[in-house]
Amino acid sequence: MQNNISVIGVDLDGTLYPITPEIKKRQRENIYQKMSVHFGISAEEVGKLFEENYSKMGSGSRALESIAKSLEKPVPKEDFIQEALEETDFLDLLEPNLKLSQMLNRISVTKKLDLITSSRCDFALEKLRRIGIYKEIFENILAHEGSKTTGEVYRKWLSKRGFPASQHLYVGDNQIQDIDVPNQLGIQTCFLGNYLMANFQIKSILDLESIL
Ligand SMILES: [Mg+2]
Repeated sequence: MQNNISVIGVDLDGTLYPITPEIKKRQRENIYQKMSVHFGISAEEVGKLFEENYSKMGSGSRALESIAKSLEKPVPKEDFIQEALEETDFLDLLEPNLKLSQMLNRISVTKKLDLITSSRCDFALEKLRRIGIYKEIFENILAHEGSKTTGEVYRKWLSKRGFPASQHLYVGDNQIQDIDVPNQLGIQTCFLGNYLMANFQIKSILDLESIL
């Protein structure tokens, strides 16, 4: 396919490996536990509220704001959920993906690859190691370097790269943070799943090669 993409940025969590039900369960338990302490209601109750709000808003931090408002409690600090996700240990559940690392190697011959993730750098590198992806495949790793929701990390990426925004492609699995926000900055986007606002939609990360 003909396009003018020079740089591809990829998301990590849910993109380079699937969030399996087991991983999701551990993450959610940790989030609910933290929220339960913060809001002073049971983990079960807080979990129900979180799921309702999260599915409406597509962003954990926005869901939290909304819950805080409805309970008339202070809004937890910005990286509350991120902290809970980072504290959740599921590294033992990640499996090597040889096909993915081979595909990234092939793509890196003609395109520049960067990793852009909200995950903390040491945790991100350990995840890559478990999946079997050499970190050196990425020229830039922007890990935990600003918010996706506000676009801060994407602006940082664009200024690091210096290409026109339209020559960047971002690949991710979150409709708002990975697609809507970079789209607004002129970055092309590719969604894992169905989302018409994205420039490209693929079923699996292994289909990425087919749109380039
Ligand atoms: Mg993701």
